[in-house]
Amino acid sequence: MEKVICFRNIGELIQVQSRRQTPKLVKKTRCALLVSQGRVNRVIRESEVNHHDFSREVDLKGRSVLPGLVDCHTHLIFAGDRKDEMEQRMAGTSYMEIHKNGDGILNTVNATRQATEDELYETARLRIRRMMTLGTTAFEIKSGYGLDLDTEKKMLRVGQRLRKNLRVPLTLTYMGAHAAPQGKTIQQYFEFVMEHLPEFRNLADGVDIFCERDVFTVAHLRRLFLHAKLVGFHQLRAHVDEFAHQGGCHNAARLGAISCDHLEHITPHDIRALQLSGTTAVLMPGVTFFLGGKKNPPVHAMIEAGVTLALATDCNPGSGPSYNMQTVLGLAQSLYRITPDQALIAATHGSARALDGHNDYGGLLPGQRADFIVLKTNDYRDLFYYFGENFVDQTYSAGKKVNGEKDPVAF
Ligand SMILES: [Zn+2]
Repeated sequence: MEKVICFRNIGELIQVQSRRQTPKLVKKTRCALLVSQGRVNRVIRESEVNHHDFSREVDLKGRSVLPGLVDCHTHLIFAGDRKDEMEQRMAGTSYMEIHKNGDGILNTVNATRQATEDELYETARLRIRRMMTLGTTAFEIKSGYGLDLDTEKKMLRVGQRLRKNLRVPLTLTYMGAHAAPQGKTIQQYFEFVMEHLPEFRNLADGVDIFCERDVFTVAHLRRLFLHAKLVGFHQLRAHVDEFAHQGGCHNAARLGAISCDHLEHITPHDIRALQLSGTTAVLMPGVTFFLGGKKNPPVHAMIEAGVTLALATDCNPGSGPSYNMQTVLGLAQSLYRITPDQALIAATHGSARALDGHNDYGGLLPGQRADFIVLKTNDYRDLFYYFGENFVDQTYSAGKKVNGEKDPVAF
């Protein structure tokens, strides 16, 4: 007989349905979730639970069950920290001024170059374990703190090892075009990235570029994307229009980007391009909050245009050190004035779409991975209302509990 685990006595079960329509939350009460071979089998009413039918039963005590959160934009493999810069920013220096002075990303580059592969693996593993405890069940990780061949490859090898050992959905992105290393101009370094792009094809699923004033231009973005397509990368993503409008968003969308990320300064023209191309807009309110930014992306105009929204932490040591998607949910609601339903759809189905994983996870639908979280209460809106508390009691990945007493509390 097929082994079926019955997660019963669920007070409120949330799924995200998306077939043939704009995604919507579906709430079921007093039900049970059946899981076989790590995937959702089906949902039945609690009154239909027959205790003889299952290989195992788990009593969830009337709590709320949601799809696991998906963090579709992180830089979580890195060494060191940038707390000194945080203090400089509080004294009035901007993020981009710090970058131009040769600090910022380059500080992390130095620390990451010096770290061994095992050291990077262990710190990243602890971060992911912590993120899982907080409810994240699928991840994206970018390279970009090497800016040389050895370190960029070292970072992506660490990512591959994490994917193999942790057995969670994990998308890897080569982001050589993150900044220019010391001693090279942007143009010189960009040509180097282009020349060596094919060497990263077997290490990463996609490419990304930091298209911003004083970093890479729209012309660089266009050349990188065209070359990446030829080399065989399927997923093109870009950091665009975060600090000023450069036109990166509509150019990336037109070239078939799977996601455009940040988007604080996009225009109606850019929104139209996202709409036409079906590119997902990845929003990271934690970065705005941490950097003390005043400008939010035009979220409501994107919703009206039918653009798919995703939410992510941007977990990185400079502009967004948080790795907590629950915080991102709370910030998205208050900074963007969106409802809990809209924020939760963006942090599950939307983020899964940004990784092309939406058929496999993000909805808690039959056939999808049984990646879900059990809250401490029976109302998922508590995540938004009592903001700042960890409301995740249990996290399941492919039907297996992945949090517990041995979880690290810090890294
Ligand atoms: Zn980023």
